[in-house]
Amino acid sequence: MNFKSISGIPLEITHADPNPNNDKNFCPINNIKGMRILQKTLANHIQPKYWESITDDFYFCEEENCKIVYFNREKQVFFTQKETRTLVMHKMPIVIHDDRPACYCKNVLERKIIEEITLKKCCDSLIDIQKFTEANTGKDCVITNPSGRCCGKQLTKMINWLKKQEDSINIEEDLLGQAIECCNRIDDSTSVNN
Ligand SMILES: [Zn+2]
Repeated sequence: MNFKSISGIPLEITHADPNPNNDKNFCPINNIKGMRILQKTLANHIQPKYWESITDDFYFCEEENCKIVYFNREKQVFFTQKETRTLVMHKMPIVIHDDRPACYCKNVLERKIIEEITLKKCCDSLIDIQKFTEANTGKDCVITNPSGRCCGKQLTKMINWLKKQEDSINIEEDLLGQAIECCNRIDDSTSVNN
């Protein structure tokens, strides 16, 4: 069985599992668990012409290589990056794009953070990154971030990627962990369950 996005883009199944999980919170094309999304988050990121198709029962697929951004399996409604108005960082490869967002609350692009770390060499912890770029210091992720959650997890992924490229980059692991903690706090406060 194949799926189509709300505007008719074909979505081919990419997983090879013979017994995929058919629960409503699993992405139908890559069989990975999605994250519950509030209607107000969805409304902020998809194009207004699709507003009538949204409800509080959608999930976000964060995997980079999956075309689906938001899905509702029961209604068979699927949104891809083509139908969103936000550039979804989770679906963009790290560094390749000059305009990849990093923090949607404070409007920080990824290249600014990379510049601070690699050129100015002023950041060796998440706290420094927060101080010098303001990334990961916002409180509006539920509305501004397309995943409805804080950018900490993606930020950590990006920094780990950077460390692999350059041996000289030294960022303290325990301080990086704070980004993930921040994500959890925001999840709790909005009672969005995965
Ligand atoms: Zn997916």
